[in-house]
Amino acid sequence: MSAVSVEILKKIYNNGVSSQSSVTALENFRLEIKRGEFTCIVGPSGCGKTTLLNLIGGLDKNFEGVISVNGVSPQRSSAVGYMFQSPRLMPWLNVGQNVGLVVDKEPNKDKKIKELLSEMELDKFINAYPKSLSGGMRRRAALARAFITEPDLLLLDEPFLSLDVPVANRLRKMLLNLCKRRSATAVFVTHDLREAIYLGDRLVFMSGTPGRVVLDLLVDLPSQRLPEDPDVERFRHNLLEQHPRLLAGLIEDTESVGNT
Ligand code: ADP
Repeated sequence: MSAVSVEILKKIYNNGVSSQSSVTALENFRLEIKRGEFTCIVGPSGCGKTTLLNLIGGLDKNFEGVISVNGVSPQRSSAVGYMFQSPRLMPWLNVGQNVGLVVDKEPNKDKKIKELLSEMELDKFINAYPKSLSGGMRRRAALARAFITEPDLLLLDEPFLSLDVPVANRLRKMLLNLCKRRSATAVFVTHDLREAIYLGDRLVFMSGTPGRVVLDLLVDLPSQRLPEDPDVERFRHNLLEQHPRLLAGLIEDTESVGNT
């Protein structure tokens, strides 16, 4: 059984009474994701990446098609963690309280919070408030919060956007460690090809409006790779050489090229 099975015939946003004001965000979008797989969804702005995550996470039920997470509908699947572009920490709660918010009633929550904050190298900041933290520290707190429910599935929407390269790389490494240690399945949305190749076991490229899969490939590189490894750059270079029209900065071609 796939960890995530997606068959979206159509996802339309209706913005008004006339059909002209509706947007078909996704059409004929199919994806099967294996348990423990780290899948990066790559595509230009507006191609439907966030829409896809919202549907997989069950935040939006309004579409034609079928999605299942661990064999049940997204709404019935409890073990899903999220991380968004902005860390979305509550300013009036300290780091420990923010991380523990979703497990408030669990008896062993304090132990879990401490363990995760120590893994994120944030244990000294458990009583600090978000406004006193750097951007990278806030994202680390958000990462801890995403893992506190011990999710089987992580949905991540460009979580390291607009961070300095070393800060982002540190967070990427932490994320990979968290996922591998817990055998979590991850769906990670990005438009940064290098980031996708560094993180992903698999890359799924989307075309824009309506969004659909135009390229789906495995990253056959050693799993312990580093962002600066020449392998990562070589992989990127070969991909761009093989699919110049598809990946000329943005994915704009609608021609399906299938698996490579
Ligand atoms: P991405 O995450 O790839 O940037 P989105 O999923 O946010 O793309 O958007 C896909 C398309 O759906 C875009 O054309 C966008 O304008 C439209 N869209 C997204 N959310 C809404 C909404 N709530 N109402 C109307 N249109 C939307």
